[in-house]
Amino acid sequence: MSDSTTKVRPSGQTVIGPDKDRFLSHDNPFEDMMARFDHAAELLGLDSGLYKVLRMPEKQIIVSVPIQLDNGEVEVFTGYRVLYNTSRGPAKGGIRFDLKVTLDEVKALAAWMTWKCAVVNIPFGGAKGAVVCDPTVLSLSELERITRRYTAALIDTFGPESDIPAPDVNTNERVMAWIMDTYSMHTRHAVTAVVTGKPVEMGGSLGRREATGRGCMIVTREALNHLKMPLKGTRVAVQGFGNVGSVAAELMAQEGMSIVAVSDNSSAIVNTKGVNVEAALAWIKEHRYLKGFPGGEEIPGNDLLTLDCDVLVPAAVENVITPHNAPSIKAKVICEGANGPTTAGADSILDDKGVFVIPDILANAGGVTVSYFEWVQDRGGYFWDEPTVNERLGRILRTSFQDVLSLSQRHAVNMRTAAYMLSIERVAAVHRLRGMYA
Ligand code: NAD
Repeated sequence: MSDSTTKVRPSGQTVIGPDKDRFLSHDNPFEDMMARFDHAAELLGLDSGLYKVLRMPEKQIIVSVPIQLDNGEVEVFTGYRVLYNTSRGPAKGGIRFDLKVTLDEVKALAAWMTWKCAVVNIPFGGAKGAVVCDPTVLSLSELERITRRYTAALIDTFGPESDIPAPDVNTNERVMAWIMDTYSMHTRHAVTAVVTGKPVEMGGSLGRREATGRGCMIVTREALNHLKMPLKGTRVAVQGFGNVGSVAAELMAQEGMSIVAVSDNSSAIVNTKGVNVEAALAWIKEHRYLKGFPGGEEIPGNDLLTLDCDVLVPAAVENVITPHNAPSIKAKVICEGANGPTTAGADSILDDKGVFVIPDILANAGGVTVSYFEWVQDRGGYFWDEPTVNERLGRILRTSFQDVLSLSQRHAVNMRTAAYMLSIERVAAVHRLRGMYA
């Protein structure tokens, strides 16, 4: 999931949410994800009935989203919502606006959310939604009409007890506010808990924006402790300097780690003495991109991944660590801030090199954990201060890290396989207890 603000492209077009450039990936990370599911299910000895149940989404919905464009013409967009598994609680997952999104992709992303929620043991199932559209060519009012009509079409699915959307690629706080308002108009009273990632003024949680990056810092700290590596002076390279990467870099620097490289889609900057993260953030605030930042030396973007460092944080896009570059990776720890940054083919190469990988479903689960806190606060009507949010987030992520670590030691598997085993078993256990309704 992704919270982000409105951006203006150099062309003057307005883009809401994370940068569209993230779509430039060519492989399918979701097939990789299901391959990992199969591997973990086999190691667990999952019985064939449950295997069949967990490999299929519970519900796949396709809706038409007709709206009147600003020029008066009518256009019909296609919307999807997939509820992958709701055995552990209401479905949880973001909504993206993307021209290239397919139902298969939404299905796999919904599965991903199921495992992510289970690995941190929060009482949610997994979902994902999308509207096939290009937000870069739509006006804000057209996007609002799409959001409201999509919400109305899914009014029987969405709900604080059934299915709770959140921001994802190209959607943001403002879109969540429109969904909350549309849903509330239909139910005739304000229902804040129907979405997370809302503005704080209307029931959003303090600490949500920073939660994913904070989670990366927390699990990296756990990994370094486990590997008996010091925090102070540990050299970190961060790919992607958006919501996740910049917060992770900032908080890791506060812990005494040295951020030796940062990059975005305009440039990669190296400084062996440590990049001044605050100065880099201030530069981006003024110039929108890292390009030209004077606090280090510019290197080709891909070189950041194979830089001499202790911790690598891929926090940009999927499929960046592949069999091609994995042999050259020098980091001892990889903290997967992004979803799917490592292809399945690269896993065994990293294993052979002894790289300790904190898998995405654990490393970036801080965001959905604080979304869970937001839902809890909305339902309770009582809001926590930021230190409370951060302290509870820390507790959940430290416990989850240790749960995954001990499973990986017990079964002599890597952290990724252990994370899948833990989450699949948690979902399977609830299915066994609930039994099969027929
Ligand atoms: P964002 O749009 O705020 O930031 C993405 C950053 O990556 C930008 O700085 C962009 O310039 C940079 N980037 C894009 N392509 C790049 C490339 N090829 N090389 C280097 N940098 C590149 O997005 P975000 O919210 O920070 O999300 C980043 C990743 O984390 C995504 O995979 C997202 O799915 C995942 N994620 C985000 C959250 C969240 O709460 N934001 C939660 C879970 C997972």
